[in-house]
Amino acid sequence: MARIVQKYGGTSVGDVERIKKVAERIKASRDEGNELVVVVSARAGVTNELIARAKALSPNPSDRELDQLLVIGEQETIALTAIALQGVSVDAVSYTGAQAGIFTDKVHTKAKIKTINAKAIEKDLTAGRVVIVAGFQGINEEGQATTLGRGGSDLTAIALAAALKADKCEIYTDVDGVYTADPRVVKTAKKLEEISYDEMLELASSGSKVMQSRSVEFAKKYGVVFEVRSSFNHNPGTIVKEEVEYMERVVVRGVAVDKDQAKVVVSNILDKPGSAARVFRALSDANVVVDMIVQNVGRQGVANLTFTVPRTDTQKAQRALQPILAEVGGGTVTIEETIAKLSVVGVGMKTHSGVAAQLFQSLADAGINIEMISTSEIKISVVLEQTRVDEAARLAHAAFNLDQA
Ligand code: ADP
Ligand code: ASP
Ligand code: MG
Repeated sequence: MARIVQKYGGTSVGDVERIKKVAERIKASRDEGNELVVVVSARAGVTNELIARAKALSPNPSDRELDQLLVIGEQETIALTAIALQGVSVDAVSYTGAQAGIFTDKVHTKAKIKTINAKAIEKDLTAGRVVIVAGFQGINEEGQATTLGRGGSDLTAIALAAALKADKCEIYTDVDGVYTADPRVVKTAKKLEEISYDEMLELASSGSKVMQSRSVEFAKKYGVVFEVRSSFNHNPGTIVKEEVEYMERVVVRGVAVDKDQAKVVVSNILDKPGSAARVFRALSDANVVVDMIVQNVGRQGVANLTFTVPRTDTQKAQRALQPILAEVGGGTVTIEETIAKLSVVGVGMKTHSGVAAQLFQSLADAGINIEMISTSEIKISVVLEQTRVDEAARLAHAAFNLDQA
């Protein structure tokens, strides 16, 4: 008998037929004698639909009301999944994030999990029940519903696996595992048998939607080994775990594309100590997450700051910056939404040189212009014109021989 946390994403529970299939899978595992906690997402498309409805009523809905609205997506699927299980004579109970004891901080729409009080779940498991938990949601100390950021059901699953000391954590999705690139963009992408936390984290934070990046961070911190696999077949998936030495032999493990970023340029600000601090303090106070940052060399006392933010936060960034522009000497804010980011990731970069040159050359040969560059120990990212980023991903994938098995 093992204690297993499973998570089924939006497509896996996309309609009544799919939920039936998921219930069969859960029942099969239950019949093997396993203890099961199952996290489910909202049906595919529902979260987007709810956001669109809110925006049709007001261009800037408050984050609190958005959370209040978004939690209903997962509330539907937990109940339907529990009902489907009851329909095949499996004792099951569904819990919202609050009922499951998932306590978060107060930051609506991107709350962090602070603690999990799993007493109720433990009691149900002891009683032989399958417990279905709503992904992506929690409750803050003021009793308000919160959500954990897009794709947050992954985090719910990993955090529950840690809190319940599960033997296994399985992330079921609509692809067979983690690939060398998004298989929908790069047809020659190959499934990886395993990948390190650090590589998975860099891929996820660079736009590979297969795992939410914060969930990977959490898994690394608490040593939760997990498997990403398909709910549509029984193929083995990809194991995500601590780095082992032989992983460094591969220079580039994967390629990621992020089309959800925007470029912000704050131009003509005073080139003096404190200007950058003021700009980024304003953004952080507004909970806008900044990714790549470039400051040009100041000339005649003025400088430009260029950085990227999630496209969903461009209005927020604009609003946060307007009031402080005067403090940094005037200046203007311009936003460019037609960019995208391409990243190549691999722990092997720590010990191999020439990776950047190879990437830049493959883009140059195709006449693709690079607008911004940033690097970390195991990642190189470039900002490009959005219309060419898929092509760039295929070129990079081929340049690092990822097309070969
Ligand atoms: P779920 O609803 O199950 O959480 P997501 O849509 O969030 O599923 O994530 C799965 C999708 O991630 C896949 O359909 C695939 O298109 C995309 N994806 C992006 N990068 C990768 C990658 N490197 N490997 C596998 N899938 C990827
Ligand atoms: N339903 C949420 C989303 O679409 C959470 C998730 O699917 O993981 O972002
Ligand atoms: Mg997801």
